[in-house]
Amino acid sequence: MRITMVKKRLANGNPCDKCAQTEEMLRRRGLWDQIDHVVWVIEGDDQSEGAKLGKTHGVEVAPFFILDHDDKSVSVYTSPLRLIRDHLSATQPAPVSQIVSSSMNAEEVSDVNRRFSQADPTDLVRFALERFDGRCEIALTGAEDVILLDMAAKTGLPYRAFFVDSGRMHSETHALLDDLRRHYGIEIACVLPDEDRLVSMLNEKGQNSFLQDGHAECCKIRREEPLARALQDCDAWIGLHRMGRELAASLAPEVAALDTRHRGKRGALIRFSPLANWDSNKIWSYVRKHEVPHNALYAAGYRQIGCQPCTRPIRPDQPDREGLWWWEDKLDMENGQRQTGDGI
Ligand code: SF4
Repeated sequence: MRITMVKKRLANGNPCDKCAQTEEMLRRRGLWDQIDHVVWVIEGDDQSEGAKLGKTHGVEVAPFFILDHDDKSVSVYTSPLRLIRDHLSATQPAPVSQIVSSSMNAEEVSDVNRRFSQADPTDLVRFALERFDGRCEIALTGAEDVILLDMAAKTGLPYRAFFVDSGRMHSETHALLDDLRRHYGIEIACVLPDEDRLVSMLNEKGQNSFLQDGHAECCKIRREEPLARALQDCDAWIGLHRMGRELAASLAPEVAALDTRHRGKRGALIRFSPLANWDSNKIWSYVRKHEVPHNALYAAGYRQIGCQPCTRPIRPDQPDREGLWWWEDKLDMENGQRQTGDGI
């Protein structure tokens, strides 16, 4: 199922107040990433894509939601609360107790946590690679998780890694990937965004829609879907899980867990986070001690290194938030202060 939210943009370029409040409510409930697509009604422009959709579906208020179901049927909701009741809550990740992995049950996962939460993370990397024997890959989702490659190399076991390339990465990150390939003598597969979804977003909204809409839609297309696609061929994965507040907030701090967000072709996945209990001091002393290749941008003041337009260097006294999606607090505040109508 694909969910499109139709929002209204006023002639002055601002979104209508009701649309902003609805988006904020979906974000607060952790449901925003289930909205696949946003289309705008432009005030005074009855040829705007959103206005045409309103006409097609006989809707005269914004926001509203169009659901394209897998069986090709279409339904329309003008009430976000009904949408949540009928669909969004039902598509939330299943409770852990209902998830069944093809290769490890919840009791075994708890046992792994007991054994490895205070152990050397390399031991857990070794355990994961041995236990899943070629069906456990290392996911490089940012520039920080290269340390996991070093640990995998030290086990002496065969391992595979892939890199989620959003298409907006820093050139320093690509240079690091080349260094890693040379240093460890491995291939690192690049996983790219789905071309159709990306082109559709770019044609409609341009390259930098996240500056107006927030990062959710762009991240979903450029980072989350490629990661989910790459994981389909795995039974388990190893990652640092520090890229992005939403991902970080939704992940438990355990070193092993049943993955509630992704599924492999053979069932639920096991997610290993060997560095879950390491702070940045420990990570950096490992990097220095073992001379792990790392991103040149750290020396320039970056604390998180994801996509080029969404990360920036910050001073040591600034919070992480200032270095990633820093414009969104202002955007939320402005949206909350707007007082406008909601008729199309
Ligand atoms: Fe898009 Fe920024 Fe998310 Fe990268 S971090 S996918 S550029 S919103």
